[in-house]
Amino acid sequence: MTFTLTPPRTEASGPADLLDADFYAFQHLLTDAEQRALTEIRAFLDAKVRPYADDLWERAESPRHLVARIAELGLYANAFPETRRFENSAVFRGWVAMELSRADPSIATFIGVHSGLAMTSIAVGGSDEQKAEWLPKLAAGELVAAFGLTEPGHGSDTARGLETTAERRVRSDGTAEWVLNGSKRWIGNGAFADLVVIWARDLADDQVKGFLVRTPAVGFAATKIERKQSLRGVENADIVLENVVVAEADRLQRIEGFRDLAVVLRLTRADVAWQALGVGVGAYEAALAYAKARIQFGKPIASFQLVQEKLAVALSNITASIALSVRVSQMQDEGIQADHHSAMAKAFVSARVRETVALCREICGGNGIQLGGQDQLGAGIPAGYGIARYFADAEAVYTFEGTYDMNTLIVGRAITGIAAFV
Ligand SMILES: Cc1cc2nc3c(=O)[nH]c(=O)nc-3n(C[C@H](O)[C@H](O)[C@H](O)COP(=O)(O)OP(=O)(O)OC[C@H]3O[C@@H](n4cnc5c(N)ncnc54)[C@H](O)[C@@H]3O)c2cc1C
Repeated sequence: MTFTLTPPRTEASGPADLLDADFYAFQHLLTDAEQRALTEIRAFLDAKVRPYADDLWERAESPRHLVARIAELGLYANAFPETRRFENSAVFRGWVAMELSRADPSIATFIGVHSGLAMTSIAVGGSDEQKAEWLPKLAAGELVAAFGLTEPGHGSDTARGLETTAERRVRSDGTAEWVLNGSKRWIGNGAFADLVVIWARDLADDQVKGFLVRTPAVGFAATKIERKQSLRGVENADIVLENVVVAEADRLQRIEGFRDLAVVLRLTRADVAWQALGVGVGAYEAALAYAKARIQFGKPIASFQLVQEKLAVALSNITASIALSVRVSQMQDEGIQADHHSAMAKAFVSARVRETVALCREICGGNGIQLGGQDQLGAGIPAGYGIARYFADAEAVYTFEGTYDMNTLIVGRAITGIAAFV
């Protein structure tokens, strides 16, 4: 493997400061190297992401100009032995997803679609040759990737309903290839990705298989979805596939059916729990700062009991969510994480986050419905700290990677042994 990345810089990055929102000091679970990497990542987020997040959100644009730096920081590479620049735990990677989302839930999704969904599909489902070909390039940010599972007619029921088809045929020179037909919806990064993992049903055996579509491709058309009101900094696409030809060498060789795809989702759902947590942390930090600065009745609103109760509920939600997320990541490293463990974490954390962002938005009063930027307090404090963005973004995070309902039904099946999906 020719891929090299420097390890986290030691002199420029010391141990990471504890967050106020990390009430039980869970960050102490990270190793020294992980904490140094975290310091470096936070510096990047403070300088290059946080100040621009509201504007990108308003313009509905992904931070594509940051891909090279994201790659340099190892943010695409960390999960994979083939590409990571230092040994790291699933708790560290989850923590990083939380930090990204804490700064900007859209950039967390922009990165998560590429490194989580797409690269994990290749890491789980690819042959050794496919992993060697794609993972280093994707880790280095030479290409941007997307993951195409959801369809216009099938979101929660993709396991049984997937309509996109794949038909194998043999060319006159004896090589095999596949012809894909169908459509996809909500595909993050889909309008500009260089590589799209497309999930399609094999007409011969009815099994779901994964295909690496290199774009541009004849018959492949992607259109950006406009007028979204959540995660606006993620560019989602509608995709149409009309007789798109994919070589057998670009079919994910270790995917035999939806069960193998479920392994990918088990891993990424745990990361999405962390991402949901970051949405809550970002909102909590904004609301706390606002409550200390905003004066009503001659006092900071933070001094009122009802405001303190909201902050206490928000912090309790965050603390319980960190505990759940930490444990599900530890179980991943222990090799005992099952689908229902990830599902519970994703469902629980995203539900708590919905309550948290609502309380935090409420603390910010009228300024809580505005993106940040304007100094409405007259004291150099931007209005609402962009809390409206966290409030809106929580909705998409609650719904993608399995809705709250679907993840709850996965837990219900584990509890009772009875599948209640239909
Ligand atoms: C911002 C964003 C980014 C996304 N990125 C991607 C991506 O990169 N790639 C990708 O493939 N997909 C992506 N998605 C799609 C996402 O995974 C789906 O939206 C999600 O799985 C839900 O599917 P749906 O929207 O079709 O809702 P539906 O499945 O139609 O569900 C609608 C409602 O019905 C409920 N429901 C459905 N079935 C049941 C049942 N059996 N019992 C009880 N309730 C039920 C659901 O819980 C939900 O409340 C993204 C979505 C969003 C919003």
